[in-house]
Amino acid sequence: CGIVGYIGNREAYPIVIKGLHRLEYRGYDSAGVALINPKKELNIYKKAGKVKDLEDFAASSDLSGSVGMGHTRWATHGEPNDRNSHPHQSGNEKLAIIHNGIIENYGPIKEELISRGHTFKSDTDTEVLIHLIEDIQKNGNLDLQEAVRVALHEVIGAFAIVIMDKEQPDQLIAARKGSPMVIGVGDKEYFIASDATPIVEYTKNVIYLNDNEIAYLKRDELLIKSIDNIVQTPYIHELELKL
Ligand code: GLU
Repeated sequence: CGIVGYIGNREAYPIVIKGLHRLEYRGYDSAGVALINPKKELNIYKKAGKVKDLEDFAASSDLSGSVGMGHTRWATHGEPNDRNSHPHQSGNEKLAIIHNGIIENYGPIKEELISRGHTFKSDTDTEVLIHLIEDIQKNGNLDLQEAVRVALHEVIGAFAIVIMDKEQPDQLIAARKGSPMVIGVGDKEYFIASDATPIVEYTKNVIYLNDNEIAYLKRDELLIKSIDNIVQTPYIHELELKL
């Protein structure tokens, strides 16, 4: 339902939580965040309920890190509970994903992955996608960028996703098809969100990701490619929204 991401030099958690609050108007049943701390550990906190419940739940935990993402979920596959909340992880727990939308062919993909030894912790379509990416990466001996691209060719449905990899802690990967995704361009920092409301207070410069595009974001570098691997030239819009 709602997506927020941050990579830069500030603490990500307060930015992500504030962004999730700004997206609350969309309605949701659960919320969660993923952060990579300075020790390159991936910390995930997620809860059914309100963003405030998530904040209370996470309050005494490690919330450090300047790379992070958060999600508010409107359940489509799997009941609204803690386990089905996003972010979801790959089997090796190195990758984390948040997802808006529906992976329509998750059923056959899940069966295939189970026959290849994958076990799942949730009932969501989303967890299937991150396991698929992990599987393609491992079996094809591909880097993550390429594995995401190949996986997105296999899924049918609408999605906006953000992926973090604790082995590449200075990067976020975002992609969309059918669900909106906005990238805010700051000074050595980028913001990601499912609409511009979480971004406007930080920057007026935004890029609307197009369908079938994948964005690779580092603090001081943004590369956008089509899912057919063609480099795209992003157009930076200036927002006129007032706070
Ligand atoms: N289909 C996913 C789920 O049920 C994402 C739903 C959403 O857009 O929040 O977990």
